[in-house]
Amino acid sequence: MHDNDHKARQAVIATAREMSARGLSPGRGGNVSCRIDGGMLITPSGMAYDATEPSDVVHMTANGDTVTGGRKPSSEWRFHLAAYQKRGDMQAIVHTHSMHATVLACAHKSIPAFHYMVAAAGGRDIPLVPYATFGSEALSKHVADGLAHRNACLMANHGQIAMGATLAAALELAADVEVLAEQYWKVLQLGPAHVLPDDEMDRVLERFKSYGQKAQG
Ligand code: 13P
Ligand code: ZN
Repeated sequence: MHDNDHKARQAVIATAREMSARGLSPGRGGNVSCRIDGGMLITPSGMAYDATEPSDVVHMTANGDTVTGGRKPSSEWRFHLAAYQKRGDMQAIVHTHSMHATVLACAHKSIPAFHYMVAAAGGRDIPLVPYATFGSEALSKHVADGLAHRNACLMANHGQIAMGATLAAALELAADVEVLAEQYWKVLQLGPAHVLPDDEMDRVLERFKSYGQKAQG
């Protein structure tokens, strides 16, 4: 195994373990991948992340062929590949069944701009993509559509998916989406949300480009 490949495998596992440790995906739900030259590294299907070793991580080509290992890839390898194909700027994906994002997704509710931080997902809202059977080609099409103009989306009757330029960024966005989902769910207990207008969200999105320690925009 090439040294860089080993490091990337370790990083995929570390991200999946952190996802579990932070309570972002109950049980064995969820999966993690990162892009590598010509394909991706993805968590094996149905394995507890604590028991997963670097050699269990599956290397797949962009065509969906398995290159290494005796493990079956995540059942969701199709939507991981479809998302990378759609978004050349993204390097890592975290899919989780985090509690509140999943609750909203099961109620078929997307997350509107009830809070300016919704812009963290890259747009004016966090969309909901339609239901399709887990692992299906149909689901991969829905997910690719949902991520075409956003870095995260909810998946009906299933959970959420977040992308990033790094594994850490994808995990952080998945955690942000979960916090926003919980806040929105609480707001809905009090009555309809006050949704920020499009022009305000456009200002927020513009400001995010230079927020924090990023270069001045
Ligand atoms: P895998 O263990 O096959 O990745 O499945 C988990 C999951 O979340 C399916 O949507
Ligand atoms: Zn899932």
